[in-house]
Amino acid sequence: MIMDCSKYIGKCSCGRTHELETKMVVVEYDALSRFEEYMAAVGLADKRRTVVYDSNIYGLTEGKHVKADQEIVLPAQGLRSEDILIEDMMTKLEDPEVLVAFGAGTIMDFGRYPAYKLGIPFVAIPTLASSDGFTASICSVILNGQKKSISMKAPALVVADLDIIKGAPKRLVSSGVNDILAKYISLADWKMASMVTDEDFCPMVYGLAEEALVIMREAADKMAATGEIDHEAMTMAQMKSGLTMQLWDNSRAASGSEHLMAHLVEMKPPRFEQAEGIHGECVGVGTFAAAKEYHRLAKLTPKAKPFEPLTKEWVLEKFGERLADGILKENANDVLGTFDPQSIVDHWDEFREIISTIPPVEELEALYKACGCKYLPEHIGIDPSLSEEALDISAAIRNRLTLVRMKRVLDFE
Ligand SMILES: [Zn+2]
Ligand SMILES: [Zn+2]
Repeated sequence: MIMDCSKYIGKCSCGRTHELETKMVVVEYDALSRFEEYMAAVGLADKRRTVVYDSNIYGLTEGKHVKADQEIVLPAQGLRSEDILIEDMMTKLEDPEVLVAFGAGTIMDFGRYPAYKLGIPFVAIPTLASSDGFTASICSVILNGQKKSISMKAPALVVADLDIIKGAPKRLVSSGVNDILAKYISLADWKMASMVTDEDFCPMVYGLAEEALVIMREAADKMAATGEIDHEAMTMAQMKSGLTMQLWDNSRAASGSEHLMAHLVEMKPPRFEQAEGIHGECVGVGTFAAAKEYHRLAKLTPKAKPFEPLTKEWVLEKFGERLADGILKENANDVLGTFDPQSIVDHWDEFREIISTIPPVEELEALYKACGCKYLPEHIGIDPSLSEEALDISAAIRNRLTLVRMKRVLDFE
């Protein structure tokens, strides 16, 4: 399947003009045999190119390598997305006009970071589809020793060869299912937030994320029923979801209260030191916990209470000395203080409507089990007794309005 991205760009009914650096996304078996054609289609065929691999992928994909003016094979051992490593690689570049990154998530950052710094295009050849970051511009990189998610360069072209992707371990397939089923929560959060604040909302971007969700849900149902993995559908779902982040300039459509579980696991505040899991697995745990909580709340009736900023004591208790300052800074202009909490109460019936589109927890659980997905806190090293609290704590990690965050200005009866 080839996705022509031009249909998403331009003036939109939401009032914005949407842009995409990504011109074309190819998700096909044996796609790399036609790589030069795709490069020509986006006007990059004749540009001097450097292709970056890591040593593992380079060995595993022999016979699939693409034409290069310069090849860089980074040692896989100890490879991580970190400024010093990326800048060290940049000193070896022989003045490329386009960078091609061939590999998994980390290698993509060795394309998107230098491409951004050098002002040249970048082409992605993902070798797995366990998350939706490939078509996004977001670089998850260690800068000056601190992990940051910042917008850099999105790929001009993505060529996903399913003959390579189908070889990914099952654990990564399951993780990919989780990263897209998360949209049940992230889309609900976005819609609810836009009803009670002046936060922008775009039906087109929402629709694209929903499309990714529908495609993945169908593929997951098929996997649950027959064990068969539809790599084409699953990879396409990841690509579409990633595009929403480019179109909207942030991850609003793709990441709500559930994704913060992944951040929590990465940050390891007190009591979560043992937490461990790949991105989609942590997101799956967040999705399941949020689905349970949202359905519980929908049965209740809220009363508004005045906004109070997070206290330093609470932040210190939940996040510890090491993380407290960052959390307080993130919440300095708490979105909860920007609107009248009564408007949540006034919209509660509509909220119930939205929550009713999230599958019941029993349905989700059966699907997760059948697809081998992680979904319970203990699956990622979190004590089950912390499961409810984990959502509330993680909501403080990002100043983005979600239903979990809204609970701070509500009392339930
Ligand atoms: Zn729009
Ligand atoms: Zn994700």
